Amino acid sequence: MDSIKVDLHTHTNLSDGVYSPCELIELANKNGINALSITDHDSINAYEKAYECANDFNIELIPGVEISTDLEDKEIHLLGLFININSDELKKYLNFFREERFHRAKRIINKLNNLGISISIDDVLQFANNSAIGRPHIANTLIEKGYVKNYQEAFEKFLGDYSPAFERKIHVSVQSALKLINEAGGLSFVAHPGYMKENLLIKLIEYGIDGIEVIHPSHNENQIQFYRGIVNQYCLLETGGSDFHGGKKMDSENLGKYFISGTQLSAIKKMTQMKL
Ligand code: AMP
Ligand code: ZN
Ligand code: FE
Ligand code: FE
Repeated sequence: MDSIKVDLHTHTNLSDGVYSPCELIELANKNGINALSITDHDSINAYEKAYECANDFNIELIPGVEISTDLEDKEIHLLGLFININSDELKKYLNFFREERFHRAKRIINKLNNLGISISIDDVLQFANNSAIGRPHIANTLIEKGYVKNYQEAFEKFLGDYSPAFERKIHVSVQSALKLINEAGGLSFVAHPGYMKENLLIKLIEYGIDGIEVIHPSHNENQIQFYRGIVNQYCLLETGGSDFHGGKKMDSENLGKYFISGTQLSAIKKMTQMKL
């Protein structure tokens, strides 16, 4: 193993993270990370600012995104790494996803209003700014307005899957997200597979994902060995990272603790060359 720390899964305040791209990069540097990917949900807007800051802190920045997709009625997150952030097609799709997230937020707020909770889309936008709006922003609004004590309660009472104010995101097929990532010159990885059944993971491999996120805070040692075995069996790539969001979430200690090596990053880079 080399001593390079590579974290290929983090979020900023351009999706549901707390820190701005520059703050995240500074913190990553402080926590010993040498190469970083910002993988915001359905957004690559962090990269407008991130390159300059990465340069200041001597961090190698790897362009990335986390896209929510559907497979057999289950939500599957795909990471696109080494994507071309100037791809018009990618930008167009991500804008569309974000608009859909905005409409969904309004539907969630409508359900909350019917449950006697008076928050408005403008209240939520104060937390979301121009980012990809999601349930965490609504959770923060519920906390601020005193309707719940903490983040966990917001999800348990209202926002969690199958809770009274839950609304699904639009359906994006795995195939169309893979096409999008491939056409933007990127490599596709299934994020945190520990949350999904094994048969779905096999389906994703059949659909042509390039790799698996083996290292993730939600994975225990057995799962790490298991996913590494699958990576080897199917000749896939291994990625990993902290899925750091910062702030009130429980992941605030994770930056710098979950990473892959420089050698593993080189293997991923080699594959991007082969795809050209
Ligand atoms: P969204 O993309 O808007 O559906 O929001 C998904 C995010 O909400 C996830 O990345 C988690 O951070 C958070 N989340 C979802 N379910 C829960 C839960 N039960 N408890 C806490 N956070 C959750
Ligand atoms: Zn998130
Ligand atoms: Fe995710
Ligand atoms: Fe994530």
